[in-house]
Order: sequence, then C-alpha cells, then structure tokens
Amino acid sequence: MRVSNYLLSTQKETPANAEVISHQLMLRAGFIRRNASGLYSWLPSGLRVLRKVEAIVREEMNNAGAVEILMPLVQPADLWAETGRWEKFGPELLRFQDRHNRDFVLGPTHEEVITDLVRKEVSSYKQLPLNLYQVQTKFRDEVRPRFGVMRAREFLMKDAYTFHLSQECLDNTYAQMHNAYSKIFERMGLAFRPVIADTGSIGGSASHEFHVLANSGEDLIAYSNGSDYAANIEKAETAEPTTTLAAPTQEMTLVDTPNAKTIAELVEQFDVEITKTVKTLIVKGATEEAPLVALIVRGDHELNELKADKHELVAAPLEFATDAEIKDAIGASTGSLGPVGLTMPVIIDKDVAVMSDFAAGANQDGKHHFGINWERDLPMAQAMDLRNVVEGEPTPDGKGTYEFARGIEVGHIFQLGTNYSEAMGATVLDENGKAKEMLMGCYGIGVSRIVAAAIEQNHDDRGMMLPATLAPFTVGILPMNMHKSHRVKEMAEQLYKDLSAEGIEILLDDRKERPGVMFNDMELIGLPHVVVIGDRNIDAGVFEYKNRRTGEKQEIPFDQIVDFIK
Ligand code: ATP
Ligand code: MG
Ligand code: MG
Ligand code: MG
Repeated sequence: MRVSNYLLSTQKETPANAEVISHQLMLRAGFIRRNASGLYSWLPSGLRVLRKVEAIVREEMNNAGAVEILMPLVQPADLWAETGRWEKFGPELLRFQDRHNRDFVLGPTHEEVITDLVRKEVSSYKQLPLNLYQVQTKFRDEVRPRFGVMRAREFLMKDAYTFHLSQECLDNTYAQMHNAYSKIFERMGLAFRPVIADTGSIGGSASHEFHVLANSGEDLIAYSNGSDYAANIEKAETAEPTTTLAAPTQEMTLVDTPNAKTIAELVEQFDVEITKTVKTLIVKGATEEAPLVALIVRGDHELNELKADKHELVAAPLEFATDAEIKDAIGASTGSLGPVGLTMPVIIDKDVAVMSDFAAGANQDGKHHFGINWERDLPMAQAMDLRNVVEGEPTPDGKGTYEFARGIEVGHIFQLGTNYSEAMGATVLDENGKAKEMLMGCYGIGVSRIVAAAIEQNHDDRGMMLPATLAPFTVGILPMNMHKSHRVKEMAEQLYKDLSAEGIEILLDDRKERPGVMFNDMELIGLPHVVVIGDRNIDAGVFEYKNRRTGEKQEIPFDQIVDFIK
C-alpha cells in the first residue's frame, strides 16, 4: 500500500473527549471515527487490525470444529416472546416496528435465533453435537457507551452456540472452546486471564470470562497467588462465607460523589414521580433496622436528558442480596451473551442519592457495598475497600491469598443447559426415539473490543505497538526525498516489490512530507518494522532499520533485508 492511495488521517493532538489511551490512539492514528454515541466508522488502518483479529478468531474456531453461519441482525419479537426476554430485557434491547407494525429488535445476541434455526434443522441425536458460529454486528443500546469501540452500541462479536444430547458432551465441547479461546488470545500476544464467572439467574453449570489485563479495565478480577483460582469479583464474592455479611449494624455511608442529591431534589429536578415500588431488594451491608432505598431510573438516556414521560422511577428498600438477585429484581436480563438490562441505579441512604450509573455505597467498616458496576469509576484501592473480598486474605480453595487486577472482558463462555431449548421446544429424538431437550452452550468474543484491548496493552508515548500478528502493516518504507532522488525512488520501489513477493504487508510513504512527519505517523500506527531509504545509506549499501518495539536501530545490507524481516 502507498500512502498516496491510502487514507492515513493521523492527528497530533490528543482528542479531548477520549478518556482511555486506546481510544485516544485509535482516533489519533486514524483507526476509527465517531458517527454518533457508541457508533463508529472503521477507517482503513483500524479495519485492517479488526480483520486480523477476526481472522485469528475464525481460524481457531474452525480448528476447534465450529462451523460458520450468518444470522440476521434484525430479529422478530415473536422469538424473544418465546423465551420471555421480550419482557425481561431492559432498554439495552433496541426495539422497533416495520411498516406492517410488526415488532422487531436489533440483535444484542442470538440465542433465540439460533435455537429457532436448530429446532427446525435438527431432529435426531445423530446430528449432534453441533457447534455453529458467526462473526456479526451486534447492537446494544448501552446506557453509557464509552472508551470508543471498547463499549460501543454497535460492535462486532463472534458468537458460537453448541447443541448436545448429554451433559458430558457439553462439558467436552466447553473445554475445547475454553482451549480455543486461550489459543486465540495467545496468538494475539495478549496478557489475558480466564476467570470463573457468575452464571446468574439463567442457571447453567459453568461460565468463564476471558479478560485482557489492563488498568483501564472496567472489571475487577480476584485471583489467588498460590493456585490457579481466578474469578471475576462478583463470583469471588459469592465464594465468601455469608457470615461476613450478617454482621453490619453501622449506618451506611455513601461514597463521595459530586452527583449526590436528595430525593426531593431529584424529583424536582427531573419532574418525575415515584411510580412503583418493587419487591424488596437485598443488598449486602444493609440491615433491617437501617434499610437502604434504591431509586432506580429506567431509561436509556444520560441523566441530563431525563424526561418524566419517558422514564420510570422505581423505589425499593435494600437488604441482603446477590448481584444476580438485584438484576432479577430490577427486571434486568442476565445470562450468557445477553447483556444485563440497562438500569441507571440511583442509590440513596434515607435522603441522599447518588446520581450515577456507577453508584456506590458502603458501610463505615468499608467492607460492604451495594450498587451495580459502581467500581468502574473508582480507583482500585477505593473499589477494593468496598468489596467483601479483601486483598491478602485466604481464598476459597485454601491455597494462597487474594490479589486483584483490572480486566477488560474480551470473551465469555457459558453453559446454558436447557434454558433456551425448554422455552422454545428445541428437542431431538434420542436413541430410544424419545424427544429430549438439547443442552446448549454459548461462547462470545468481542472482536472489535479486542482491538482496543490490544492497544491498551501495547503502546508507548509515541503510539501503538501492536504485535506483528495484529499490526495494520508489518513494514513501513520511508524513502527520504524520493520526489527528488531517482535512486531513492527506485530503491524504495524495489524493496516494495521484494517484500511483497514474500507476502509481507507494507506501507510505503510516498508523500512529499518531512521525514519527521513520516516517522511519527509510522510510530503512531505502530508498524513493527520501519526501513529508511536515503541517498546516504544507498552509498553505504545498507538500509537503515528501526524496530518499533525495542527502538533499536540497525544498518542492514541490501541483500539481507528480506530475510531479516520475514
Ligand atoms: P460487559 O460486561 O462488558 O458489558 P457483557 O458481559 O455484557 O460485556 P457478553 O454478553 O458476555 O458481554 O458478550 C460477549 C462479548 O461481547 C463480551 O465478552 C465483550 O467482549 C463483547 N461486548 C459486550 N458488550 C460490548 C460492547 N458494548 N462493545 C464492545 N464489545 C462488547
Ligand atoms: Mg454488557
Ligand atoms: Mg460482562
Ligand atoms: Mg459477559
């Protein structure tokens, strides 16, 4: 590729509205452009990386015996009614009607569609097991899209679904998929960690998330320094003896936040009424004498856009509960690839409210928390203070003590059991000719999120440093003065040909730019190898070479460059 034919679109300045480094670099390097909140166009360099991620995922899925299909993004509401998720799914599910007033959704996940497909295509146990996957656009109307493609509304996911007659068969496939996921992230050169995850209200016997470790990660991981135990924080907390939850009698205090408001202020500010109280929510840290109250605003707008006619306030007293119970009580959908319903919790202590979708509260002993996703915006130490799982304390398996890390969830595998097949009547005839509900598993990978996660782990102050398996091009050729020097031009063209013949991907900078500008661009988009060609080094019979990651410079004789790079 020649820059003159390309859309490089780099920029020097750090964009003001981008919080995390990957988002900043993806904008600066011309990887993505924002179209609207949570919606992005992929420019050529970004798309090349996205396609590389996708190709690795596809290859390893195929190696693991999965078969590719493609399902529609638009899905009929009828299917969602069958599983009850039409009712249960929160505003993250974008619903709309066609010209005939029929209800549809933009698919946030595809359990319903695949179960419908398979119940029609498969009738005998002999056709099982089945492992079907797709790489496809998902839409989730996230309450707070942020960090660029990391938490977008429209994003690319690989989702696989498996069908089995027996639990043993599901277990085998689940283990294979676990392996395939590890291979995928290893091939991408990412530091990652599989962790045990909560199976939530959907039931199912096993679930793991795969996290790319990064300080900017929205999730907390608790792991043991003495064993393989690693869990997401929600799961780790359920492994704790419940006695630690029974004790608190202190008054609740709230985490300091600029958004704290009294209920009266809220009701006045947004001109809303409390329309409904839901059943008792149970939250760690509250006691019967000092119940908390959660004021939950259902809606899909940022707070300052709240309007009474569009939003419903729900008040509920809080006692002890698991995260899953909270999700249940607020009518959120849980499970596998299905996102948790979007609810903006506003948590109050008698008359104080925290207006934030990442609200948090704690007992004065600092150990008991409530809230949903509250830890995301807190510094690590503060977030951990509010948790029941404490750094340095023994783990559930009795080996080692807890340590914590932040992670970006890039994959999630889940045993669904018969939840969907029961709801949708997806059966096969077994050996005895008896109809049996199929057991299912589902397996998601955030293909577009991985691009951002990889950049979080691979950058320096000059830009991206993606591993060669993911970088947009492998080699950058920088001819100095090629518009004036015939020799330089010829040499650059020859090198371009020689490297291309080896299947190496090259970006040749044929612009009339200053060397500094060209260098900066190559470093910003993070090409692993840069070769400089100038009159001076032609006289010496060598190329000037610079390695992006190590920063090491070398002179390489003309006839050795191809071997050196490939
Ligand atoms: P999160 O906890 O980050 O909201 P999730 O648990 O809702 O993710 P899943 O339903 O498990 O997501 O979907 C499978 C994968 O899709 C996730 O592991 C993640 O990598 C990716 N993903 C989910 N939501 C988004 C999003 N809004 N933008 C980009 N990728 C996403
Ligand atoms: Mg989600
Ligand atoms: Mg998640
Ligand atoms: Mg998940």
